[in-house]
Amino acid sequence: MITRLAFFAAALIAAPLAAEDHPADKVSAERLRADVEALVSFGTRHTLSSQTDPRRGIGAAVDWALAEFGRIGATCGGCLEVLPVAEVIAPDGRRIPAPTLVRNAVAIQRGSARPNEVVIVQGHIDSRVSDVMDATSDAPGANDDGSGSALVLEAARVLAGRKYPSTIIYALLSGEEQGLFGGRILADWAAAQGFTVKAVLNNDIVGNSCSGEGYCEPMIVRVFSEGPRADLNDSLRAAQTRFGGENDSPSRNLSRWVAELAEQHPDDIQVRQIWRTDRMGRGGDQVPFLERGFPAIRFTVGVEDYDHQHQDIRVENGVTYGDTIEEMDFAYLARVTRLNVRALDALARAPMPPSVRVEAAVRRDSLLRWSVPDGAQSFRIKVRATDAAKWSDETLAGGQTVGDGEQAAVIARRGDDYLFGVAACAGEVCSPVASAVPGGAFGPVQQR
Ligand SMILES: [Zn+2]
Repeated sequence: MITRLAFFAAALIAAPLAAEDHPADKVSAERLRADVEALVSFGTRHTLSSQTDPRRGIGAAVDWALAEFGRIGATCGGCLEVLPVAEVIAPDGRRIPAPTLVRNAVAIQRGSARPNEVVIVQGHIDSRVSDVMDATSDAPGANDDGSGSALVLEAARVLAGRKYPSTIIYALLSGEEQGLFGGRILADWAAAQGFTVKAVLNNDIVGNSCSGEGYCEPMIVRVFSEGPRADLNDSLRAAQTRFGGENDSPSRNLSRWVAELAEQHPDDIQVRQIWRTDRMGRGGDQVPFLERGFPAIRFTVGVEDYDHQHQDIRVENGVTYGDTIEEMDFAYLARVTRLNVRALDALARAPMPPSVRVEAAVRRDSLLRWSVPDGAQSFRIKVRATDAAKWSDETLAGGQTVGDGEQAAVIARRGDDYLFGVAACAGEVCSPVASAVPGGAFGPVQQR
C-alpha cells in the first residue's frame, strides 16, 4: 500500500496553480450582467410559459442557454457535451395544471482520470411573479435566479479550457418555482448515469448586496447545509442517536470546506454558514439532491430583498416592486462566482472524501480507519470537540496501512469527547472532511 501511494504521488502530483493563473480571476462582472440582460429579455421564463415562441418564454430561454453552452464549448475544441435533461411532468393538482415539459440546459466537462466522479454547479432559469401560476406577465427573474444562471455560465467560461481528474456539470434548471422539478430531474438523471456525486453547489439569489431598507452585506454570502441527512433511514437514525452525526452530514462538511476556502482569500467574499437546509419555510434545488443522498449546499445572498423577489412589477405607495436588473449588484455576483469557481476547481482536482469509522468505546485512545479513494495521495486527520464548530488538524506521525484499500491511525484521545474526520488530498488540494459518524460518508445511505 505504501508503495502504491508513493507511485500515485510521483505520477499525479500537479504543480499548484500560480495565483495570477487562477480561473477565478478571469470572472467578469460585465459578462455576468450581459447574461442576466439576455435572460431578462425573454420577458418571462415561467415554467408554464411558451415552449415554442422564439423570443418570449421558457422555451426560448432554455434554447438560448443550450446555445450559450455550445458557444463556450466551441472555444475549447468541443470540451463541453451539451444536452437538455428533460421530462414531461404530469399534472400534480398544485403548480402543474397540465402535462408540462420541464427542460434543463446541461453541459458536461468530462474528467480525465475519474469521469464518473462529478461536481455539479447549478442555478434555476425559470422565473415567477406574485401569482405562482401567472405564466404571461413580465417576470424578469433577474436575481431569482438570473443571477445563479449567469454564475453557472460564467463558471463554464472560465473553467472550460482546463483539464480536471473529475467531471464538472453545469446546469440551468427549470421548474424550480413550480416545485423543484428540474432539480429532481437532474438528481434522478445523475443517479441513472451511475455518477458518484462529490458535491452540488446550488446558487439561487446570489446577485444583490442590499435589502429594501438599505442594510447591505456586500462581502458575505450565506451557505445553507442540512443537519440530519434527508435520506436517513430508521437504522441510521437510531445509530446517530447513539453515536452522533446530527452535525456531521456530508453537506455540513461541504459547507465547512467552502467557508475555509473563502478564508484563504480574506479580501474577497466570506461565508456565513447557515446550519439548516434552506431559509425558513422555503426550499431550493439542493433539496432533491439531498433526498437522494447527494451532498448539496445552497448559496444565497447575505441579506435578502423581499420587495424584489416573486413580485409583480409595480409601484405601490412609492415603493418599487419586481425582480429587475436595476436592483442587482454585479460586483457582488462576481464575488460569489469567484468563490464558486475556486470551489469547483478544487473539488474537481480533489479525490472523493474517504469513508471513515472510529473504534473508541471503553478505551483511552481512538482507532480511526478510513478507505483510500481513487487518486488519494495523502490524508489529513481532523478533530473537533463535540461542541466546536470547526475542524482542527490532528497531529499524527501519519496513517498506518491495515489491509487492502484501508488505512488506520491511533489517536491519543478518548473518543467520547471528540468527533474525528479525514480529508483525502491530491497534491495541495484536499477534499471536504468526512466524519467518523454513522451517515458521515459522501454517498447515499441506500448504497452502503
Ligand atoms: Zn429561486
